[in-house]
Amino acid sequence: MPVRRTAFAALLLAVPALGVVTAFGIAPGTVTEALPRSSVVLEVPVPEIGAPAEPPAQRFVNQERVLRGDTVAGLLSRLGVRDEAGLAFLRADPVGRQIFRQLIPGRSMQAETNEAAELLSLRYMPNTTAVIEVSRGPKGLEARERTLAPDTRMFYKSATIRSSLFAATDAAGIPDAIAMQITRAFATDIDFHLDLRKGDTFSVIYEMLYENGELVAPGRILSAEFVNQGHAYHAVLFQDEEGQDAYYALDGSNRAKAFLRSPVEFSRVSSGFGARLHPIHNTWRAHTGTDFAAPKGTRVLSAADGTVTFSGWRNGYGNTIEIRHGGAVSTLYAHLSGFASGMRAGTRVRQGEAIGFVGATGWATGPHLHYEFKVAGMHQNPMKVALPKATPVPSHLRAKFDEAAAAASTRIQLVRSSSSLRFE
Ligand SMILES: [Zn+2]
Repeated sequence: MPVRRTAFAALLLAVPALGVVTAFGIAPGTVTEALPRSSVVLEVPVPEIGAPAEPPAQRFVNQERVLRGDTVAGLLSRLGVRDEAGLAFLRADPVGRQIFRQLIPGRSMQAETNEAAELLSLRYMPNTTAVIEVSRGPKGLEARERTLAPDTRMFYKSATIRSSLFAATDAAGIPDAIAMQITRAFATDIDFHLDLRKGDTFSVIYEMLYENGELVAPGRILSAEFVNQGHAYHAVLFQDEEGQDAYYALDGSNRAKAFLRSPVEFSRVSSGFGARLHPIHNTWRAHTGTDFAAPKGTRVLSAADGTVTFSGWRNGYGNTIEIRHGGAVSTLYAHLSGFASGMRAGTRVRQGEAIGFVGATGWATGPHLHYEFKVAGMHQNPMKVALPKATPVPSHLRAKFDEAAAAASTRIQLVRSSSSLRFE
C-alpha cells in the first residue's frame, strides 16, 4: 500500500498547478464567494499506518449547505442531529445564538453526532474569515467564535470499490463529508444502496479549507466521475444563472433536476445494512409503491424540489408525507417513525432534504419506507417512467461551461490514470 501511494503522489506532481484553480469557471462574488487564497496540494496525505481497519462508529460527521428559508432546527435535522438540549444550548448561548442571526444560504455547516444523534461538535463559517465552533467538553457544550484566514487546497483522489463505498473512501483517505457529497452528486443516477458493484471506480477533485496547516472545514467537490456497472457518470461544479453552485453532467444537463434514485439516505449506518436494503414487496392489497427496507430512524429524503401537500397520519400508511413537484409529479412517503421539523402542508423542500425518518407505523411488519410516485395522480414506477428532461446550462453560459467541463474531464482522466497504476 505505501508503495502504491508513493507512485500516486509522484504522478500528482505532474498536474499543472495553476490550471486547476482557473479551470472550473466559478465566477467570484456570488453565494459561494471565492476564498481569499487558493493553493494546490501536491502531496497526498497518507493515513496513519496501523490505523484501525474499523473506525469507531460512534461519531458521524455530516455537512449541509444552508438553503433559502432554512432554520437552525431544520439544518440540524438535515445534519442528523436530534438533540433538543443541544438546540436549547445554541439558543441560549451568546456565541451559539450568532448562528441564528447569520444563517446565510450557500454557507455550509458541519456537525458531528454520536449514535444517539446528540451533538458532539458543530462548525459554521458565516463568512470566509470567521468560524463559530461548538464542542462538547467535560462540562457540556461550549461555543466560541474566532477569526480565521483559511486557504483552499485541492485534493485529487481515485478509488476502486472492493467491499463498500466507505471502505473505499477510507482507504483513499477521503473524508466522510466528501464521501457524502459524492453520493449526493450522483444520487439522481445511482442508488447507492442497490447499484454499487465490486470494481466500480470513482475519481474526485475536491477542496479542503486549511488554516495554519490545520483542517478547518471540508470544501466542495469541483468535479467527479463515478463508473458504476461500466457506465461513467460525471459531475462538474458550475454556477447556475442565479449564481448557485450546481452539478452538471458533461453534456450540460443539471444533475439535480432529475429525481433521486433512492429516497432513503445512504450513510455509514444504512450502507452496513447489506442485502436487507433490497426493496421488499409486501402483500397489502393494491400495493402501488416501492418499498425500501432500512433501519428505523434512517433519514428519508425528498426525491426532488417541491412543496409538502400532506403531512400526518393516514390509515394503513401511518405517518405520511406527500410532496408535489413540477410537471404534475407527486411523491408519497409512508410508515415514517417521525417527521423532520417544520414539515407541514405548504413547506417548500429541496431535493435531498430530510423530510422524515424510516419507521413501521401503519400497516407495516418491519421498518421500511413505502414510496409512491404519481404523475397526474396516476401511480407510476419511478424507475421506468420517462421524466422531464433536466434543465441544461443556459445557452449564454454554454461556451464557458463547455470549457470548464473539458478541463474537468482532463483532470479527472489524469486522476483516474494515475490511480490505475496504483492498482495494477
Ligand atoms: Zn409499500
